[in-house]
Amino acid sequence: MTAVLVTNIGELTTNDPSSGDESELGLLHGAALMVEEGRVVWVGEATSAPAADETLDVGGAAVIPGFVDSHSHLVFAGDRAAEFAARMQGRPYSAGGIRTTVGATRAAADEELSANVARLVDEMTRQGTTTVEIKSGYGLSVLDESRSLAIARQFTDETTFLGAHVVPPEYADDASGYVELVTGAMLEAAAPYARWVDVFCEAGAFDADQARAILLAGMAAGLQPRVHANQLGPGPGVQVACEVGAASADHCTHLSSTDIDSLSSSSVVATLLPAVEFSTRSPYPEARRLLAAGVTVALASDCNPGSSYSSSMPLCIALAVREMRMSPAEALWAATAGGAAALRRDDVGHLGVGASADFTVLAAPSYIHLAYRPGVPLVSSVFAAGRRVG
Ligand SMILES: [Zn+2]
Repeated sequence: MTAVLVTNIGELTTNDPSSGDESELGLLHGAALMVEEGRVVWVGEATSAPAADETLDVGGAAVIPGFVDSHSHLVFAGDRAAEFAARMQGRPYSAGGIRTTVGATRAAADEELSANVARLVDEMTRQGTTTVEIKSGYGLSVLDESRSLAIARQFTDETTFLGAHVVPPEYADDASGYVELVTGAMLEAAAPYARWVDVFCEAGAFDADQARAILLAGMAAGLQPRVHANQLGPGPGVQVACEVGAASADHCTHLSSTDIDSLSSSSVVATLLPAVEFSTRSPYPEARRLLAAGVTVALASDCNPGSSYSSSMPLCIALAVREMRMSPAEALWAATAGGAAALRRDDVGHLGVGASADFTVLAAPSYIHLAYRPGVPLVSSVFAAGRRVG
């Protein structure tokens, strides 16, 4: 059992309000943390650190918890660069573009899908992400959904069954038949590889009754619910999420006051995905209304080939600060502790004693630089469970 002291940390974000400056970020200056068997066992001033077997001197850099990216769609083939170019020249985004990726994904071999996930997870890791949630949703058949989840499971335990992403072309005239498939044979095949069940509750995808039926069936099969809600317009997604006790309502771009009231009186996390609004040139969610109402806010990438082909949590932080008026501290918290809350995890997203030693060393003196220096690669090294991964 080797005790490693990470020391000479100029600014340590613990996300433990009982640590350091007693802010939400629990900031410590001139700090150190001790790692043993993949866990944080001590945090404090470097000058009072206990003896260690090994020392890692980070030279005064800022250290933050690894990002928890609680929303991504990485199991797919092909890309939609041409669609993006067309959209940037004026064509609007609609849920239907998903079908293009479904065709490419169904035609791809397992090895091709798996290599693509590996490439994207590696991109995420190099940008400081240490926990990632991955959804299915580009298979939309019993076989393609279950193999998508089996592939995702090779990379993370946070796997989400999203058979209800969109109605596939072969069910175009029989949406209720497709809901029957999703809640029946497809769920049965997918459940062994999934922790979560999700539904795209939106005009053009699934309505409130369909979404409710899909989430309840998933819950009966032992999965926990999360919802794609209120992305493209006002709708029932947030209400359904609150009704079934979802861990998270994701997007939350078009919210009524009733939606905000429902979120604030529930434990549902509002997960905002600003890289989507950036990539689709759409209005951003009103983060300040959510924060003012006391709603727990998470930030995630929604990395997918259609509406947000970015794996970068630092980009999400910069957009949250610049475009949604979150403070740099609120944005960092949302990208770490907020993501952990959205996945109902208490072992990641913070660096308090007992946490998994998942942390990122920045080539900067403060986390503020993540928003202050957008587009600059500030991640210098990344550790998961105490082991260097990036
Ligand atoms: Zn999504």
